[in-house]
Amino acid sequence: MNEKMTRREFLLLSGAAAAASFSTGCATNPVTGEKQLMLFTEANERDWDRLHAPHQFSADYGAFPDPALNAYVADVGSRLAALSHRPHMPYSFRVLHAVHVNAYTFPAGSIGVTRGILLAMESEAELAALLGHEIAHVACRHAASRMSQAVATQLVVGLGVMAVASKKEKYAALAAGLGALGSGLLLAKYSRDDERQADQWGHAYMVQAGQNPEGMVGLMQRLVAIHDREPNIVEVMFASHPMSRERLETAQQRVAGEYAAFQTRSQQREAYMDRTASVRAQREVILALQNALKALDAGRSGEADAFLAEARRLGPSDYTALLLSAKVLLVRDRPQDALALALAARQTPGSEAQAVHVCGMARLKQRQFDAAWQDFELYDRILPGNPEIAFWKGYTLEQMQRIQPASQEYLRYLQSGAEGEQAQYAYRRLVDWGVIKNETPAPPSEQQNKPARPPAASSGAKPPPHKKKKK
Ligand SMILES: [Zn+2]
Repeated sequence: MNEKMTRREFLLLSGAAAAASFSTGCATNPVTGEKQLMLFTEANERDWDRLHAPHQFSADYGAFPDPALNAYVADVGSRLAALSHRPHMPYSFRVLHAVHVNAYTFPAGSIGVTRGILLAMESEAELAALLGHEIAHVACRHAASRMSQAVATQLVVGLGVMAVASKKEKYAALAAGLGALGSGLLLAKYSRDDERQADQWGHAYMVQAGQNPEGMVGLMQRLVAIHDREPNIVEVMFASHPMSRERLETAQQRVAGEYAAFQTRSQQREAYMDRTASVRAQREVILALQNALKALDAGRSGEADAFLAEARRLGPSDYTALLLSAKVLLVRDRPQDALALALAARQTPGSEAQAVHVCGMARLKQRQFDAAWQDFELYDRILPGNPEIAFWKGYTLEQMQRIQPASQEYLRYLQSGAEGEQAQYAYRRLVDWGVIKNETPAPPSEQQNKPARPPAASSGAKPPPHKKKKK
């Protein structure tokens, strides 16, 4: 409210930003003109985006297989992006197959919205508000700014903690050997001020693009309502920063004030309902899956199974229903059943790399090493750059007694900066095989060559247990 923006200011800033070049060390927020700690260049932002966004999208079950719907969302988003303060960024938009209520952006503008949130919204104006908010995060360079602060304070590890998947879904992914990549760790955690700015400028962009400003209020009311009802399902503009009444009230004040004249515009409800018909047709499947996630989060596994079965019955070729069910079975040490569902998922429209990963893990757990290795190879071709795959390739090759290629994969895994039990396991193998020298000598008992732990046999695809150093 102190930061009310006039249309004139908006146009001035838009023009200024379009003309500006963002060079190394630039410390001015492209939108507000305020000083901003900035250790990341635009090239860094683009690299981060290009390297990490595809893995997050895969963890969210990839793009929803309706080209017309994806094109519609991209069209609404592109019109806003063109009006933003960084119109030259490589924005891209996709509808994700995940069912939780979420939307996010990577720093160069790779933006995803879930079918869960599309189902929750009811007008194009609301969609525009959502996309405007995400685009404003890019325009204000919020992710790069957060990353810069993390680097400056040496908190790189705590850099992003935005929960994207539900907690248990994330746990299932970890326990199933799918790794933390794609579980939201690569997304920036924004500050409250970042959120206020994204709301303010997102609102401005959508109004400039001809949308009804009421859409921002409608979106926020909807999300507040869902959040009150089922907090686990909503993790949008909210995971890192709760959706607050204050944000809603500020949006309402803007609509009643500076945007009052635009309230008569159409909110494009019918157009939105028409365009999202393919998502709406799956309403019951989506709700069943949301209920399954809720039950998983609450530890009610019997209930979760019932909802998953219901989702598969309602949507026999629903990629997410099949793959989420497969992951749950994998964690429960039922690899044969998990494999059957993951293979079925691979036959559905929209199938992507995660299903191949789950197949590989299910086969590994059944000691079908050749087949598992082929899955991991295929995964690397579809979606290169996932260090988790390097570990499991190494592990599979090790079980096949192919020590030389196994050591290469373990090295690749460690070079990615991996930490934790799997990293310790890989490191130990490389020391045992004489590939690397143990730089931090453990007691002699730990240095002796030891046979590889039995694979996954009983613990399945879980990471090899970490042996504590004796003191
Ligand atoms: Zn936000």
